[in-house]
Amino acid sequence: MNDISARIEALREKLGRDLCILGHHYQKDSIVAHCDHTGDSLELSRRVPEIAARHIVFCGVFFMGESAALLTRPGQNVYLPREDADCMMSLMASACHARAVLKELAELGRGVTPLAYVNTSVGLKAVVGTFGGAVCTSANAKTLLKWAFDRGRGVLFLPDRHLGRNAARALGMDENDWHVLRLSGDGLLDPATQPLDRPLLLWPGCCPIHGQFTQARVASLRREHKNCRIIAHPECPPEVAALCDDTGSTAYIIKDAAAFAEAARNAAGPRRTLVVGTECNLVDRLTARHRADCDIIPFAPAFCPDMGLVDETALLALLEKIAAGSARPVNVPEAEGAPARLALTRMLDACGK
Ligand code: SF4
Repeated sequence: MNDISARIEALREKLGRDLCILGHHYQKDSIVAHCDHTGDSLELSRRVPEIAARHIVFCGVFFMGESAALLTRPGQNVYLPREDADCMMSLMASACHARAVLKELAELGRGVTPLAYVNTSVGLKAVVGTFGGAVCTSANAKTLLKWAFDRGRGVLFLPDRHLGRNAARALGMDENDWHVLRLSGDGLLDPATQPLDRPLLLWPGCCPIHGQFTQARVASLRREHKNCRIIAHPECPPEVAALCDDTGSTAYIIKDAAAFAEAARNAAGPRRTLVVGTECNLVDRLTARHRADCDIIPFAPAFCPDMGLVDETALLALLEKIAAGSARPVNVPEAEGAPARLALTRMLDACGK
């Protein structure tokens, strides 16, 4: 254990039950080693209301800290080791732009239920909650999309056009059922020339990390690794997802890798290969975990620079401030917090907590 690791562990011991450290699966191993719980966005959101600690440290990007802060009890605070760790996708849909588009759609007689991926700012979640919508994660996007359609109107899914279409495909919809909005700087671009009557409208955002996956890469992987299995995160383009053997959230991918490794261990014949299309910190962890049984390789080099900002130095600095009583918690103004919490709890209610 290096000196920084040892000092982090000493502070964890000192803060004891007052401290809980959460880490997203995309965090590096050196951070995961200090976490009390790891998970994807849904798993960690579900966990927050059960945490008794006063200080919750979220090793992840900014929207995750905000989401956790929405679910805390009085007297609890959420802290981020790096407040500048943002999510490039979440920046593609601002709250004021989304509000303007929802108002414009309503004025055009095209009222929709908004459904926001959890990878969005608290301001955008508040807009979605105000307009009767909910939040979803990659693990429950299909369930929440059905929930949104059950409200009896069309749906605006934002900001990830890939996840929205992958969830729609899982519900049996096709390209005639959706439309990726063309937007101006402050609203819709040429409403009269867009098929706004399609059941599903999609915000034109995506994750630059997963959005870079291509069909050509699937073809070359299948050539290089005969009989490989390919699983990818549903933030990848739907035409890529269609060529994979399966898609799923990070939690799903972890379970799939464990099942693949177990089957490989008990099988005769050549060593098996699983290709995993998601952020490289998670893929590297799965590679190491299952090395004895199979080869797990990345779909492509896919590193999220914002997730990568969180390191032991930043974690140690934050814990020192918490211990000294000078750390700055994530602050969610109640004017945004109440409708954003509504959108988040609609998700937790719709998928059975
Ligand atoms: S991997 Fe993509 S969606 Fe996840 S935090 Fe990074 S930019 Fe955002």
